[in-house]
Formats: sequence, C-alpha cells, structure tokens
Amino acid sequence: MSKALIIGAGGVSNVVVHKCCQNPDVFEEICIASRTKAKCDAMKEKLDDGRTIIQTARLDADNTDEVISLIKSFKPDIVINVALPYQDLAIMDACLATGVHYLDTANYEPPDVPRFEYKWQWAYRERFEKAGITALLGSGFDPGVTGVFCAYAQKHYFDEIHSVDILDANAGDHGYHFATNFNPEINIREITANGRYWEDGKWMETPPLSIKREYDFPQIGPKDIYLLYHEELESLAANIKGLKRIRFWMTFSEKYLTHLRVLENVGMTSIEPILFEGKKIQPLQFLKAVLPDPASLGPRTKGKTNIGCVIKGIKDGRPKSYYVYNVCVHESAYAEVGSQAISYTTGVPAVIGAMMILKGLWNKPGVYNVEEFDPDPFMEELNRQGLPWHEDFNPVHLD
Ligand code: NDP
Repeated sequence: MSKALIIGAGGVSNVVVHKCCQNPDVFEEICIASRTKAKCDAMKEKLDDGRTIIQTARLDADNTDEVISLIKSFKPDIVINVALPYQDLAIMDACLATGVHYLDTANYEPPDVPRFEYKWQWAYRERFEKAGITALLGSGFDPGVTGVFCAYAQKHYFDEIHSVDILDANAGDHGYHFATNFNPEINIREITANGRYWEDGKWMETPPLSIKREYDFPQIGPKDIYLLYHEELESLAANIKGLKRIRFWMTFSEKYLTHLRVLENVGMTSIEPILFEGKKIQPLQFLKAVLPDPASLGPRTKGKTNIGCVIKGIKDGRPKSYYVYNVCVHESAYAEVGSQAISYTTGVPAVIGAMMILKGLWNKPGVYNVEEFDPDPFMEELNRQGLPWHEDFNPVHLD
C-alpha cells in the first residue's frame, strides 16, 4: 500500500486521480496538489468514497522549496507530475532532496524556447542513482505506451528492429471550430515546430507539417497524417539498438490546420513576449486563455483515437512486420472518468508507470525512459486498466 503525491489538476490529473481511486490496493492515500486548490478540492469531492484517502493542497511547483515542504509533510512514496513540462526540474530537485520516486508524462521545457529534449532530465541520472530513487520519464501514451510497444516488439518479435513509424490518430469531434485536446500552449508549440525524424544515425529536419501521407487506421478509416517531431523519438533512437529510421505522424483535419495557419500568420502562436498595455504577455499564453479549456471537451467529444507503432525488422534472418495499437473511444473515457480520450490515454499509463515502480517491478535507481524496462507487466496492466491493445502482423507500411 502506497502514497502518491499528484501534482497538477488539469485534464490528465483528473484521469490519474480516478485511476488511483480505482486501484486502492496500490494507492492507499493520494494528495492532489496544484496551483488552483479549488480544482483539487472539486476532484476530492467527486471521488472521496473512503477507499483511497484523498488530501488536497495548494502548490506552486515552480518553487522547489514548496514542493519539498509538501513532500515532507505528506510523505509520499512517489510524485506523479502531471502539471506542465516547465515544472519537471523543480519537482525532480524536490524528489532528490527528499528521496522520493518521480514520474512524468512530458519532458522538461524551458518556458522561453521550445526544445523537446531530454538532456536536462537525463543529466540527473547519476544523482538519482546515488539517491537510490527512480525517475520514470514520459509515462503517458506518446511518449509512454509507444515506447513500451517498441520494447515489447523488441522482446517478443524481433532480433533487430529497423524502422518504427509511430502513428497517432484522433478521429474525435468536439464540435468547436478550433480547440486543442491537451494544454494548448504545449500542443501548439509542438505542432508549429520544425518536423524532424531520425535516419541512418542522424536527424533530418523538415519545415513544419510539410510531409503528408494518408493511412487507413483500424476502426477509424483513412486519415491524413503529418510528420512531426515528438520527444520519444530521441529516447527510442538511443535505446532501440540497430534502428535505422524512426518517425512520428499525427492526424490533423484541414479545418484545424487552416485555423492554425491563420493564428500563426497573425502572430498569435508566438512565445516571444510582446508589450500590451504596459504589460509583457506571450501571444500563445493569451491564445490559451481564449481557447476552450481541454478539460471542458470531455462531454462534447465523440469518436475514437488510434495510437500505435508500425514496426519493420528481422526475425530469424527473415523480414518481419508488426503493428501494435490501442483504440480509445472518447465517449467511453468520458463515461468512466469524465475526461476525453486524449487525457485518458495519458493519465492511465501514468498510473500504470507509478504502479510498476511502487510494486518494485520497475524501480531501478536512476533516470529512465519507459522502453528501458521489461514491457510485459506494463502491457498486462494496459489491458486491465482500460487501454487494451491489438496486434497486426501484416500491416501497411509508409514509404
Ligand atoms: P492542463 O493544462 O489541463 O493541466 C495542467 C495543470 O498543471 C493545471 O491544473 C495547472 O494549474 C497545473 N499547473 C501549472 N503550473 C503549475 C505550477 N507552477 N504549480 C502547480 N501546478 C501547476 O494540462 P493537461 O492535464 O492536459 O496535461 C498535463 C501534462 O500532460 C502536460 O505536461 C502535458 O504536456 C502532458 N501530456 C502528455 C501526453 C503524453 O501522451 N505523454 C499527452 C497529453 C498531455 P491551473 O489549474 O491553476 O492552471
């Protein structure tokens, strides 16, 4: 029986809190701590049935000392960081100071430059090893389950993996002209950055959204997909030995891209601060304030997501193909936990990652990405916790 401190009270946190409460045998007590305490209290009110004990706290997670004092008073076994990527290092510092395991779903981002790099967090490896605690990085869906899928393929089906295409399709419709499915600031920073993929030992860079294909997704149908850089490419390129190429693709509708293009053209997606009525503001942060809150999309979103990995390589000297994917239904996620599938597919793997550490299955001291551990117990939990996966040994490959 363990105690978890959950930092953040947004869409993903809501799923994490629900799933912890569904697993009271592992999560005996949780504390939900975030910048706006009222959001934590609202979750407690909804879920407090006495099986998992719930506390709440106000916390500015940019302030390491505040995180340290909360850890000292609540005494968790693990910190589940589902605030924003800007808080990662401050929370990791607090975990080091107090000897508590750490988990997140997105790599550290400096607020002023979008980088999507693990280097800042990987630099903590030795300190976590010495402290005898585990930091599990990127335990959402992508990054997260996509890395576990690759590790599973490597363990069970391939002698050598040569290419991976990560395919992320969202065929959900929320009825708004334009809204992002998770934090708009992080989402738009990701999409408007240059595309990048890894081939023959080097990174190839492409202008944003300039490479497009169509893919016929199981249970969804044909969709336009665009090549993007996504943070798990960095860790998978380093951790999957023999890999020759890895790319990431995401679906976008023409309507979404048209809105994005206009917003970009008028300067609304910029993170360069501008002076407005005597105050410095980031246009993208202002845009976030006028867009629908992703947490409010749940009741409106209908349709499915399909996220998975199409993999090519060699087994017993012969070419081998494999596709492993999950399909998540927005309406079912909402009926179960009150969030749409994007938050659901992120929050469930965060809780599974925490379970792996708390049950002693994945708790090697140091800083790790999910693909560095035995994928089997994680894959079993995906089926149990609401994200069942499917396999296809004859998938269509992208050129
Ligand atoms: P939200 O914006 O809905 O929630 C973020 C929460 O963090 C809010 O409650 C916010 O507080 C809180 N917060 C922000 N700054 C601080 C701070 N300084 N101290 C304490 N709390 C703070 O985001 P999501 O729930 O959609 O996303 C959460 C994380 O999940 C993000 O890092 C995102 O990048 C990641 N993610 C990962 C995915 C994956 O598959 N790996 C997919 C989707 C998301 P307030 O309520 O006051 O605003």
